[in-house]
Amino acid sequence: MLPRSAGDRVIPVSENAMEDLTFSSVTELSRKLQAREVSAVELARHYLDRIEAHRDLNAFLDVRPEATLAEAREADERIAAGNAGPLTGIPIAHKDIFVTKNWASTAASKMLEGYMSPFDATVVRKLREAGMVCLGKLNCDEFAMGSGNENSAYGRVHNPWDPNAVPGGSSGGSSACVAAGLAPIATGTDTGGSIREPASFTGLTGVKPTYGRPSRFGMIAFASSLDTAGLLAHSAEDCAAVLGSMVGFDPADSTSVDRPTEDFSRSLTQGMEGIRIGVPRSWMGKGLDPEVAASIDKVLDTYRAMGATVVDIELPMAELGVPVYYVVACAEASSNLSRFDGVRYGHRAAEYEDILDMIKKSRDEGFGPEPKRRIMIGTYVLSHGYYDAYYLKAQRVRRLIAKEFHDPFRKVDVIVTPVTTGTAYDFGANADPVSAYLSDLYTVPASLAGLPGVAMPCGMHSNGRPIGVQLIGENFSEARLLGIAHAWQSVTDWHLRHPAGY
Ligand code: GLN
Repeated sequence: MLPRSAGDRVIPVSENAMEDLTFSSVTELSRKLQAREVSAVELARHYLDRIEAHRDLNAFLDVRPEATLAEAREADERIAAGNAGPLTGIPIAHKDIFVTKNWASTAASKMLEGYMSPFDATVVRKLREAGMVCLGKLNCDEFAMGSGNENSAYGRVHNPWDPNAVPGGSSGGSSACVAAGLAPIATGTDTGGSIREPASFTGLTGVKPTYGRPSRFGMIAFASSLDTAGLLAHSAEDCAAVLGSMVGFDPADSTSVDRPTEDFSRSLTQGMEGIRIGVPRSWMGKGLDPEVAASIDKVLDTYRAMGATVVDIELPMAELGVPVYYVVACAEASSNLSRFDGVRYGHRAAEYEDILDMIKKSRDEGFGPEPKRRIMIGTYVLSHGYYDAYYLKAQRVRRLIAKEFHDPFRKVDVIVTPVTTGTAYDFGANADPVSAYLSDLYTVPASLAGLPGVAMPCGMHSNGRPIGVQLIGENFSEARLLGIAHAWQSVTDWHLRHPAGY
């Protein structure tokens, strides 16, 4: 590492000092940048080197050091000029569902191979305006469809805790990247659990905000009534530090909520005194790994000891979440993916007879098996004759699931549940689509109701893989959820553990 000049001083930065930064919190990195103990360029280089050294994880789909370093130099100029914000110079990587001007945007699909967007997604733009430095684009399940990141057209992503395990999906590049210390924080998207589940599988904290709070503009659409941008990081504190800069009303998104952003760190000092926790006991029954159940009981015991009360609640309709989700999500996906016809953008077959043949061949070659499966299911449930039986019925049950949460939220501040029935599974173990779909049972209810959710690490399984717990809150209660997560993280160290070799 070369000596670096700060004003008229020259401070040598040792390799060790940089290594120490790898798993630093966003707040700590921010402090170091402002104090000019490290520059944005050095920080960016450090993570770019790590990305290069850990390419075997397959977490990144596009890395362009020149583009990253240009952003970092801009951040350094802002810091030098004294007009930096708290996030200026902090590196971040984006799930390849967000379109970006300077990096290819593919949704991990052959359909969009090499696609360069003429604009940045609102979330990407807002974070860049806050001074964050983009490290590149992260692998994910194709069009965010999956639970293990095994559906990417560009190969699977490995879990840094165990190379034979999935990193969770669909934001598997995001989870692997942050867990391995290739970026301090990453964006993800959550349609039915795709931030919470990968966070849980890799020992991270993930936040899915209230639907409509972050803009969907520039997020490659999967299921528009569910798609929500969020973050994966090491702690609730880090999520809170960045969330405020990524959410906010966006006139370019018709479902954006017109509500000002807020200071999501404000509840971090709140503690658990007087907090009421609801536990849907029926969710804790059969099928749940006993070690996961025991870890969640420990979380509840700890919260009780910190002054919270724990009550049992009922959410019987939520048990229909998986079938309802897969009807609604596939219906919306079939409609959203109809834009990929080889005409305007995306893959076009090289040889074809006429326009219909061109569309057929382009779609056949461009989409992988999972999007095809969902287009078929979605087209079927929307078709004349089946619409009422499937789509309409699913929408009605969705409404009931959303309503069912109102009652418990009169009595409790937060609902605590597992994130998944177990820990990260081995590659191929969930190859049957139905078993993959069923694994979303704990995450889809909050998605269908549009509620915010947080996943955080709460233990380590005897199989050596992290265990997570889910917190679900009322609409717009992100700050409180992050405060409750932080209360746990202030007395435990699960979030500070990192996989060996990173
Ligand atoms: N696993 C769910 C699915 O495959 C959720 C995906 C997501 O949230 N993007 O649809």
